Amino acid sequence: MPETPRSFATTQVQAGYRPGVAENTAVPPIHQSNAFEFASLSEARDLFALRRDGNIYSRAANPTVLVFERRVAELEGGIAAAAVASGQAAVAIALLALAKQGEHIVAARQLYGGTVDLLQDTFADWGIEVTFVDQDDLDAWAAAARPQTRAFFAESITNPIAQVLDVRAVSDIAHRAGVPLVIDSTVSTPYLQRVKDVGADIAVHSATKFLGGHGTSLGGVIVDLGTFDFAAEPERWPQLTGPYRRVPGGSLVERFGETGSPFVTLVKTKYVHDLGPSLSAFNAFQLLQGLETLDLRVARHTESALGVARFLEHHPAVARVHHPGLESSPWHELALTYLPRGAGSVFSFDLQSTGDDDEDFARVEEFIDRLRVVRLVANIGDARSLVAHPASMTHSHMTPTQLAQAGIGPTTVRLSIGLEDLGDILADFETALAGALVPELDQLDAISAR
Ligand SMILES: *Cc1c(COP(=O)(O)O)cnc(C)c1O
Repeated sequence: MPETPRSFATTQVQAGYRPGVAENTAVPPIHQSNAFEFASLSEARDLFALRRDGNIYSRAANPTVLVFERRVAELEGGIAAAAVASGQAAVAIALLALAKQGEHIVAARQLYGGTVDLLQDTFADWGIEVTFVDQDDLDAWAAAARPQTRAFFAESITNPIAQVLDVRAVSDIAHRAGVPLVIDSTVSTPYLQRVKDVGADIAVHSATKFLGGHGTSLGGVIVDLGTFDFAAEPERWPQLTGPYRRVPGGSLVERFGETGSPFVTLVKTKYVHDLGPSLSAFNAFQLLQGLETLDLRVARHTESALGVARFLEHHPAVARVHHPGLESSPWHELALTYLPRGAGSVFSFDLQSTGDDDEDFARVEEFIDRLRVVRLVANIGDARSLVAHPASMTHSHMTPTQLAQAGIGPTTVRLSIGLEDLGDILADFETALAGALVPELDQLDAISAR
């Protein structure tokens, strides 16, 4: 009780809670508070000047979010991480912190659809130029680099075709061009591949997918893997090596080069601060719960997905399965090198085509309608098994050329295999595919063989 009795209104706002009291909760609590109370004005001054660590305002940092950042950074073997509200924000901000107007990025053309939109549309509006290359074409990566280039960007396993990137080779080319390699590790997760060990410098994730793993919470995270030396060519990176007004006491490299991450400090104090895509404490809590079972879940996802891929490969209604764990995949060798624990659970397959787009679409629709265990949802990395039709859903705004380059046809079906019983998933496909056979095709083959 306070010395002087409080009025009802003051009591209802202040009673029963003292900031700064550790409650010894075994699980990181949800610090659902916009802001944090300072012990004194001089403490506030030190915090605002970044002379000491502490909480100010949840757009900049929140204790629940910090736990998530530290945990992902450690899983990736990185030095620091910045969590943001979505994977889309993570990609955008990681690249904005590297390249500004008049500068240039080289990116794989097999990227997530939202990232393609960001790079070719919004970044173009902002005067940041992007060259897209076939990620398997190492000469194209090398040829695309220019003096203005500030980053190479790719996904370690692409979606929907599940191409495996030769990360080491692309990283060598990026480093010869004097720029960091940024890898979107959403599909592989640090359990299947620690991209730092194979040459990446910055990892980004849509934590919405496997890190959270239960389809409940959007989130993203940017990890500085601590491998790129921005001070080696200081004139290229004035945002890190030049004066920085937001933090007194020299450049970010001078202030944080030894003890922290100049890059993550820039991301947080400039881009998250100014643009505002902060991760909420509640979502950080959900994502932390997901992380606790990451290895168990991804191991099951991966094993079941390979089981489904092998089943589909032998089914007469299926023309092709795009899974790098299969010996038939052009990326099988890379998968053996880079993904010894398996190639993840997001992949696709093509139903046999009739050659007629409308008819093919109707057959894909009937097939998806017949699925009962596997659900039609525009997401991946959920505990549930999900199916999508890239050509009419996630990739519907792409041009026919872009679709063809991405290996997506009218009968391409994307899967994200979940945690249900594998037998139930296979039975679901067995039933749904039984109606998707194309008897006419056999006749056509017979006719053309005559
Ligand atoms: C989903 C996804 C994103 C975007 O993440 P959101 O959390 O949906 O904003 C980025 N990259 C990849 C590879 C994704 O799968």
